[in-house]
Amino acid sequence: MSELRLMAVHAHPDDESSKGAATMARYADEGVRVKVVTLTGGERGDILNPAMDLPEVHGRIHEIRIDEMARAAEILGVEQHWLGFVDSGLPEGDPLPPLPEGCFALEPLEVPTEALVRVIREFRPHVMTTYDENGGYPHPDHIKCHQVSVAAYEAAADHMLYPDAGEPWSVSKLYYNHGFLRQRMQVLQDEFAKNGEEGPFAKWLEKWDPDDDLLTKRVTTRVECAKYFAQRDDALLAHATQIDPNSFFFTTPMEWQQRLWPTEEFELARSRVPVILPETDLFAGIEGHDG
Ligand SMILES: [Zn+2]
Repeated sequence: MSELRLMAVHAHPDDESSKGAATMARYADEGVRVKVVTLTGGERGDILNPAMDLPEVHGRIHEIRIDEMARAAEILGVEQHWLGFVDSGLPEGDPLPPLPEGCFALEPLEVPTEALVRVIREFRPHVMTTYDENGGYPHPDHIKCHQVSVAAYEAAADHMLYPDAGEPWSVSKLYYNHGFLRQRMQVLQDEFAKNGEEGPFAKWLEKWDPDDDLLTKRVTTRVECAKYFAQRDDALLAHATQIDPNSFFFTTPMEWQQRLWPTEEFELARSRVPVILPETDLFAGIEGHDG
């Protein structure tokens, strides 16, 4: 088959490097054209790396995040497109403050949907990825990212909808990222214990509702991508204002991750092609693609 294309839709710059990044790097390495669509500029992201919490960074966060994103895309071997909406920020406090005027989460659904439909009809992906209805975590931009992605997956194929946004294109499959899994964290935590170390995940695991079992209940697709974990970490670190290199994300030895959990997980949410679940390949069932 001729070229295969994968589009990963994300809310903020850095999300692409923490959710499904090694899978993207693998497909890109195998010759698939991969495009990340970033819905917002990440303008309201806090500076989470103490080493980058500098006066010269604060006034320039938008520009800096554009540079960080370009570097991460280069590391992963993917293309990237900004959709141009404004980060809503993560509202905190009780009661929660109102969302800032003009932010992405307050956009009427059809505005970002049309913008994404236009990119889909131009890039013509066979597979799209996004977040589930809970956003992966409850950031208003992540929940909106889910809503916009599902609406655009449907609308891009419909010639009646957004006729000025290009020729209709039917994306074959739509997936949700499910990288944040209790079982993965447990396996790695157990390995720390086996080695007589405390491990960084105890607090997370304690708080985790055992019924919250995405792996059993929702994951349909596990993509082997251990070879690309280092690229994933490098891409994440390229978002230097957002990622503390001393954070617990980076404390698990690479060899343990590759040996104990060599996959990334996805949920097939919509498909226009026949599928057999579970799968190990996002392109399974797409005509002309074997393996
Ligand atoms: Zn985000």
